[in-house]
Amino acid sequence: VSEAVETTIVNSDGNHKSSVGHTMLAPFTTGWQQTETEPLIIQKGEGVYVWDSKGNKYIDALAGLWCTALGFSEKRLVEAAEKQLNILPFYHSFWNRTSQPTLDLAAALIDLFKPVKMGRVFFCNSGSEANDTQVKLVWYYNNAIGRPNKKKFIARQKAYHGSTLVTASLSGLTSLQKGFDLPVSFVLHTDCPHYWRYHLPGESEEEFSTRLAENLEKLIIKEGPETIAAFIGEPVMGAGGVMPPPATYWDKIQPILKKYDILLIADEVVCAFGRLGTMFGCEKYNIKPDLVSIAKALSSAYMPIGAVLMSQQIFDEVANKSNELGGFGHGFTYSGHPVACAVALEALHIYKERDIVAQVNRVAPAFQKGFKDLAKSPIVGEVRGIGLVLAIEFAADKTTREAFPTKWAVGTYFGGQCAANGVLVRVSGDIIMIAPPLIISADEVHKMVKTAELALKETEKYVSEKQAN
Ligand code: PMP
Repeated sequence: VSEAVETTIVNSDGNHKSSVGHTMLAPFTTGWQQTETEPLIIQKGEGVYVWDSKGNKYIDALAGLWCTALGFSEKRLVEAAEKQLNILPFYHSFWNRTSQPTLDLAAALIDLFKPVKMGRVFFCNSGSEANDTQVKLVWYYNNAIGRPNKKKFIARQKAYHGSTLVTASLSGLTSLQKGFDLPVSFVLHTDCPHYWRYHLPGESEEEFSTRLAENLEKLIIKEGPETIAAFIGEPVMGAGGVMPPPATYWDKIQPILKKYDILLIADEVVCAFGRLGTMFGCEKYNIKPDLVSIAKALSSAYMPIGAVLMSQQIFDEVANKSNELGGFGHGFTYSGHPVACAVALEALHIYKERDIVAQVNRVAPAFQKGFKDLAKSPIVGEVRGIGLVLAIEFAADKTTREAFPTKWAVGTYFGGQCAANGVLVRVSGDIIMIAPPLIISADEVHKMVKTAELALKETEKYVSEKQAN
């Protein structure tokens, strides 16, 4: 593991220090990392590069957390923020007061989202808040139209939808739930659509999708369709391990939801704004959602902002004067923050002006091919991805998909090799995730691929040594 990434602090007596002298409880950080390792302090950024406090330079191959689409030094976003800070640094959007950038951004988003015509936008500060809002909005909607028993949510194993109480429950990852008394009882999980890992011997992608759709229908019938409010899914599953859907998956899931009057929520927090080579993930897979969650690249992450897009029909029922629920009692102090909205508006302008979708489609083929060639290695089980997002999954056996012993930490070793050679990737067990800023050049893609090849060679040696012992 690169010294720059994880420096174990050892006292002169050889014992680990219990604290490395910082006072933060770090998100998604294991206990030993919190107490025994120095944090990697990122000090500055330029383009797709970041520098740590020791002066090491890296390509940030995950664009922060899949979010800095325009890289780390887009002056126009800084200027947009500064300009708005000088005009009006804050106003809220409660009680029908608001600010102009907020209204402009809502209109721009309705205009930009083409898969279905959306009616209204609700603003919040993050992907978690967007998905949390989805649950409340859907409940409120079902109460407003007189079906109070239709409240359960179906999500998928290995989904990532956030880390608040409800969104950690929607997420299908035990690491978000263990120790937190989650998931909450109204959330059900159906199959993860990861063909490589879960297909049966001889089963084609289409057959796999058919089986998953049938399983979904069985779950709905078992629970009672009158109790199921909504299905939430990422067009391409992200943090759970980057899993593009198998062929025909979304074509087969959507009619079942329609049949039982179950709303479809597209969690576009990672996929939206060009990542897959389309403006929204829904465009790629012909998904027609009732509700959409966005965040991250909405502002290229320069300001925290998230949003929910809803159909006109859902809005009409929620705002219906004759529903007996009173006003829509939900919102955040920073819902529609004018500075965040001004920055997001500028990001949308830049995406349009520079044709970010075309830019992604220019560099994606070499990106996908370069990394997919790594799958020839005997220690790589699968490389999967689309557009500018992919995952490398290590496996001890390509056919049985058997994993390496956890304690070998093969993924961590590979990640350390990448970091030592100037590329920061995301490591999740033996899955490596890569989703660089969308502005990445062909040369920078080449550099990432070459670094990964080098890291893989070292990792193969490391694994051979382990296997020999
Ligand atoms: N949905 C998806 C698909 C995500 O990937 C994430 C964050 N990685 C979230 C929701 C939650 O977003 P946030 O961290 O901004 O709350």
